[in-house]
Amino acid sequence: MAAVGVILSRMSKRLRVAVVGAGAAGLCAARHVLALQHAFDPPVVYELTAQVGGTWVYEERVGCYDNGHPIHSSMYRNLRTNLPKEVMMFPDFPFDPLLPSFLPHQEVLRYLQSYSQHYGVTPHIRFETAVEEVKPVTMETGEGKVTWEVTSSGGRYGRRTETFDAIFVCTGHYSDPYLPSIPGLEHFKGTLLHSHSYRKPEHFTGQSVVVLGAGASGLDISIELAGVNAQVILSHGKPPLAFPLPPQVRQAPPVRQVLKDGGVEFGDGSVTHPQVLLLCTGYSFSYPFLSGASLGLQVEPHLVFPLYKQLLPPAWPSLFIIGICKIICPFPHFHTQVQFALAVLEGSVLLPSCDEMEEEVRREADRKLMEGVQPRHLLKMDSDQWGYCRTLASMGGFSPLPPVTQSLYEEVWRQRQRDPQKYRQINYRLVTDTQWETLELQPDR
Ligand code: FAD
Repeated sequence: MAAVGVILSRMSKRLRVAVVGAGAAGLCAARHVLALQHAFDPPVVYELTAQVGGTWVYEERVGCYDNGHPIHSSMYRNLRTNLPKEVMMFPDFPFDPLLPSFLPHQEVLRYLQSYSQHYGVTPHIRFETAVEEVKPVTMETGEGKVTWEVTSSGGRYGRRTETFDAIFVCTGHYSDPYLPSIPGLEHFKGTLLHSHSYRKPEHFTGQSVVVLGAGASGLDISIELAGVNAQVILSHGKPPLAFPLPPQVRQAPPVRQVLKDGGVEFGDGSVTHPQVLLLCTGYSFSYPFLSGASLGLQVEPHLVFPLYKQLLPPAWPSLFIIGICKIICPFPHFHTQVQFALAVLEGSVLLPSCDEMEEEVRREADRKLMEGVQPRHLLKMDSDQWGYCRTLASMGGFSPLPPVTQSLYEEVWRQRQRDPQKYRQINYRLVTDTQWETLELQPDR
């Protein structure tokens, strides 16, 4: 193995790290940088908005903030977590034990604010400061050392460029709505919106709504629209959902086109004229401050490639994109990736050469494609996430996630498949690192 990247053991000074974003991933990155004072200067955390929490900051407005930047959070008013707090938590910072397992978004925001305070991250955050450009500027031969220039605007300092040894990109990937191309969409005469701009069901009381997409948001929003007596057609390309849905929700195949008279035609030829077309079609990866091409990265709506260990561009191993994968247990995943990245920077993980890393990423992608995985799903982890986290912990020499995180995550997944309307009524408690128990089954609501 040839060591590349920023190797602290061969360097005299402490490293300067920039963290872009103060959501869960950015707070986690900063918290671990601060814990390694022998190796790192306190981080500079850039945050576009006026507070920590990212996704978990509910914003009633849609569109743009006063400074013209697009609203970041896609949170809707009634959202309750789809993971219980016992697996959602950072392993080193439990939620308040008195809270139920499935939380309203306000509690997650409070939790992240406490995490930030507890670990002394907050004073290092530059609020209302947008990162506009991150670029590598020098490459010294021999050490493979790279310096990064970060240009930011707004906040206390206005427009400014600073240099760092490493970058943690923690800007999330649920902000830039993905709009599928639907033939004839321009003919639609009703209200057209993406779930990014959905806030509350009352706006749709009694209306006919086609919800396109049956992922976590599409399903949850359909159920809450049924609660205000909207007539919902849930249009999706999955096999028919076998679990109970409210009577106001019926399923249909994907939308084929919008007809000239504004009618929405489904894959089976049936047509409806809904008042609302709600696109729950997911989000695009977007890093407007990075030049993907100059980093050797292909950035597409559903794919960023190649990333070694789904984390770093092989040619630039001091830039880390935290939490890019989908279908993961986010906070424990960030906790693992961040520690691995810091072990790389400290030099306790020696990375393979750039060519070897690229080769490994391509081999892994080819294997998945051969198994029938669509290119746009290459960053979906699902059951692979546990082995992935174990590998990073073992390579980085830090504690792996407790096995109970996996077993409870899988149990909740099963419960959600069984009944997406009721699984949040169950409360859990962690007993040991390997055991959890069900506390009580609350009465149906
Ligand atoms: P974000 O929370 O998106 O934070 C990114 C931060 O970067 C933001 O504060 C943003 O303002 C800032 N930023 C962006 N661009 C810039 C820039 N150029 N300069 C400076 N700052 C910038 N996860 C769970 O574990 N459980 C759940 O129940 C759950 N439910 C979810 C429901 C919804 C509707 C959505 C959208 C996501 C949900 N998630 C859930 C996933 C959630 O996104 C992650 O848990 C996690 O909060 C993501 O954190 P992040 O830090 O990666 O990104």
